[in-house]
Amino acid sequence: MRRIILAAVCLAVAGCGGQTTEDTSVDANPFFADYGTPFNVHPFDRIDEAHFMPAFEKGMEEQNIEIEAIVANPEPPTFDNTIAALDRSGELLGEVSRVFFALTGSNTNDEIQEIQKEIAPRLAAHRDEIQLNPELFARIKVVYDERENAGLNREQLFLLENLYQRYVRNGAVLDDDEQARLKEINQRLSQLRVDFGKNLLAETNAFKLVVTDEADLAGLPEGVIETAVATAAREELENAWVFTTHKPSMLPFLTYAENRDLREQLFTAYTVRGDQNNSNDNKAIMAEIINLRIEKARLLGYDSFAHYTLETRMAGAPEAVYDLLDQLWAASVPVAEREVVEMQAIIDAEGGGFELAPWDWWYYAEKVRKAQYDLDDNELRPYFERSRVRDGVFYVANQLYGLTFEELHDMPKPHPDAEVFEVFESDGEHAAVIYMDYHPRESKRGGAWCGRFRSQNRANGVEVDPVINLVTNFTTATEDTPALLSLDEVTTLFHEFGHALDGILADVTYRTSFRSTDFAELPSQIMEHWALHPEVLKVYATHYQTNEPIPDELIAKIEKSSTFNQGFNQVEYLAASLLDMEYHTLSEPTELDVNAFEKAAMDEIGLIPEIVPRYRTTYFSHITGGYAAGYYGYIWSGVLDHDAFAAFEETSLFDQETAQRFRNEVLAVSGTADFMDMWVAFRGREPEIEPLLRNLGLQ
Ligand SMILES: [Zn+2]
Repeated sequence: MRRIILAAVCLAVAGCGGQTTEDTSVDANPFFADYGTPFNVHPFDRIDEAHFMPAFEKGMEEQNIEIEAIVANPEPPTFDNTIAALDRSGELLGEVSRVFFALTGSNTNDEIQEIQKEIAPRLAAHRDEIQLNPELFARIKVVYDERENAGLNREQLFLLENLYQRYVRNGAVLDDDEQARLKEINQRLSQLRVDFGKNLLAETNAFKLVVTDEADLAGLPEGVIETAVATAAREELENAWVFTTHKPSMLPFLTYAENRDLREQLFTAYTVRGDQNNSNDNKAIMAEIINLRIEKARLLGYDSFAHYTLETRMAGAPEAVYDLLDQLWAASVPVAEREVVEMQAIIDAEGGGFELAPWDWWYYAEKVRKAQYDLDDNELRPYFERSRVRDGVFYVANQLYGLTFEELHDMPKPHPDAEVFEVFESDGEHAAVIYMDYHPRESKRGGAWCGRFRSQNRANGVEVDPVINLVTNFTTATEDTPALLSLDEVTTLFHEFGHALDGILADVTYRTSFRSTDFAELPSQIMEHWALHPEVLKVYATHYQTNEPIPDELIAKIEKSSTFNQGFNQVEYLAASLLDMEYHTLSEPTELDVNAFEKAAMDEIGLIPEIVPRYRTTYFSHITGGYAAGYYGYIWSGVLDHDAFAAFEETSLFDQETAQRFRNEVLAVSGTADFMDMWVAFRGREPEIEPLLRNLGLQ
C-alpha cells in the first residue's frame, strides 16, 4: 500500500516514465527495464508487490534457458563456457530475489508474506533442478578433471573446486539407488527438524511461572515487574505476574529474584524442555536425526557427519575443532571454578547455608558484578547518540582504509526511514552505496543484519559496484532525547558495519562465493575491537548535550567489564559445543539414549555441577539446523578476530600496512579463496588463541 502512494507522488513530480499507479503489467514492471536510477540502485519507489511474482517467474525461465544453452553447447566444456556461464546465469532472478528477501526482513506486509509462502518452495525446486542436473554436472566434471592444465587463476580454481564439491556433496556421483536413499534421508531430516522445532516451541510456551504473592517479586527491578504484568495480561490473568522460559523473561528473573525456590522452578522448567516423556518429547527425534546424519555421511564417503560438514569450513576436520575446544576448555574451567568460590563466599557471608546451584548463578553473579564491575548503561547512553556512533564507525573506516562517506538525498529507498550514503575511495572514486535503517517498526523483524542489494563483481566484463543494506533495531528517540544507544547497540553497529566493509571492499570477478560460518564473522567481529578502544571512544563518544568526550573512568569500567563472568560464559558455551561435536563424530548408527549420551559426554570433559550446557540435547535447535558440527564456529571466529586485532596492537591502532593487508588478503577476496590461505597471507602464520585468552581474562 505504502509503495503505491509513493508511486503516485512520484508520478505527480514526473520522472516515472508515464506509468500509471495501477499498471502492473509486464511492460510496466520495473524489474524488466533499465532502472534509470543513480548508481543503478533498485527503483524501490516504483516496485509494487504485484511486480514480484511475474519477475520471479521470468527470472527462473530465463535461467532455465541459460542452463539449457550451457548443457547443449556443442563445444567441449571449458571454464568459460560452463563454470563462468553458470555464474553469469540468473541475473534477473538474482535482482528480484535480493530486493524481495530484503523486504521480507525489513519492510514486510501480508501480501509479501503470501508471496514468500508461494515462492519459497518454487525457488528451492528451481535450485535443486540446477544442482541435481546430471548433464550440467557431467560438463562441470570434465572441467574439474582438467583443472590442473587449464591455466586457471586462484579465484577460478577456488570457484571450480567448490562448485564441483557442492554437486558431489549433493550426491552427484552416487548411483541411482544411493541417490534415492539420500533423497529419503534429506526429506526425513527436514521433517524431523520441523517436528523438533514445533515440540520445542510447545514446551517453551507450556510452562508459566505465575506469581500471585507480591512478596515473591522481591529484588526485581520495576521494568521486569511491568513486563511480567504485561505477560500476565496476555494470559488473561489478573492480579498476577507471569514469567516464562523464554530467555528475555527468564534471565531477568534468575538475575534479580530473591526467592530461591522460584528461581529453581523456572530454571528447571527451562532445562527439561523436550525431555518430559510427553507428546512434545524430543529425545527420539534427536536420536533419529543423529543416526540419519551418520548414514548420510557414510553414503557420501565420509567417516562422520562432522567430517562431512567441516570439509567446507576453515577448520577442515574434527581434530582441528577439538584441538581448539580442548585448549579453551582447559583454560576456562579453572576460571569458572574461581567464580564459584567467589559466589559461595557471598552465600556464606549472607548465612545462606546452601551450596551454589545452577539456578543461583545469575543471581550471585549479579552481586559480584555490582560490587566489582558496576557499569550502568544509563550512564553511558548520553555518550552514544546514534549519529555520533555512526560517525565513529565512518571514522574507523576512514582511518583504516581511507574511505569517506557522503549522505545522499532524493534516492529511492527500501524504506523511507533509511539513510543513504555514497562511499568513496581515498582517491575520490565511487566505491559503494549503503543504506542504514536503524529503528524497529512493525514491518521489520528483530535483530541486526547486513545484506546486499548488489554484490561487487565483473562477471560480464563490466565492474558492478556494491549496494549494501544495513538493518538494526536500536533504541528510538523520545520527545526529549535523540536516539541514545546502549553499549551493546554500539558494538552491534560496528559489527554489522564490518560485514558492510566486507561487501564494500570486495574485489572479485565472479558472483558465486563460498563462505564458511567459522570465518564469515572475522570481518564483523574485528570491528568491535575498535568500537571500544579508548582512543576511538574519545573521538566519537561525546555527550549529546555538552559535547564532552566520555570520561576515563567510564572507559575503564567498559574495559574491565569485558572479563566479567567469562569463566561461566565460556564453560556454558564450550560444553554445548563439545556435545555437538560428540554427537556428530559418531561413525556408526547406534541405539542412542540421548540423556545417557549427554551425561557421559559431560562427565568425560569434567563439567562442573554448577553449570548446565548452554543447550541440552532436547532443546539444542542450533544443531538440528545449520549449526550441526558447527556450534564451535562462534569461538573459532572469536580466536580469529582477537588474533587479527592483535596485529594492530603489535603495530599501531590504524597501522596502514596491516590495514592494507587485511583489506587485500581478507576483505577483497572474501568467499573466493581458501580460508586458511587468506588468514596466513594476512597474519603470516596460523591463528593463535593467546590474544582471545588474554582479552577475556582466561589466562
Ligand atoms: Zn555477524
